[in-house]
Amino acid sequence: MKISSIDTALKELLDSIDSTGELEKCHQCGQCSSICPSYRNGGIRPREIMELVVIGAIDPASDESIWQCTMCNSCTERCQLGVDPASIINVLRNLAAARGNVPEHFVQEARLFKNTGRSFPITVLTKKMREEMGLESLEITGSAKDDLAKLIAATSLGGLDLE
Ligand code: SF4
Ligand code: SF4
Repeated sequence: MKISSIDTALKELLDSIDSTGELEKCHQCGQCSSICPSYRNGGIRPREIMELVVIGAIDPASDESIWQCTMCNSCTERCQLGVDPASIINVLRNLAAARGNVPEHFVQEARLFKNTGRSFPITVLTKKMREEMGLESLEITGSAKDDLAKLIAATSLGGLDLE
């Protein structure tokens, strides 16, 4: 059974980045997993993800391992058949987000980005040091906040509840 008969939304997204059908050339050599830093630490297994995608047995609405990818692109650089696992995982994540499968820590990061323009918090110590050095505040205000909201709305972050 192929993915096209199970998840048409995923098939369409994959077709948009894989118009020449490189994905189905995957011969399960495992080179992508061997180079993957997440896999080496018990995380995502890109070879298995490619297998599940090809046979149509992955469910973006519930798969947790796709969120263990660091997006380092090493798997794609290593693959000699042009399969591009990193882009495929990115597609899976976008679909997962649209279907409500986003780990809470990613939602918190997105919320922070919406409110501050940064994906990491500025500590009290950093603020104090900046003040002492005479550096301007990192707070965003007014039109910058509006621009940020437009950016978020135009991406898949816009589908998350960031209030
Ligand atoms: S994606 Fe490429 S490197 Fe990974 S198992 Fe398939 S053919 Fe091998
Ligand atoms: S992009 Fe993701 S799956 Fe590929 S090697 Fe990096 S962490 Fe592993």
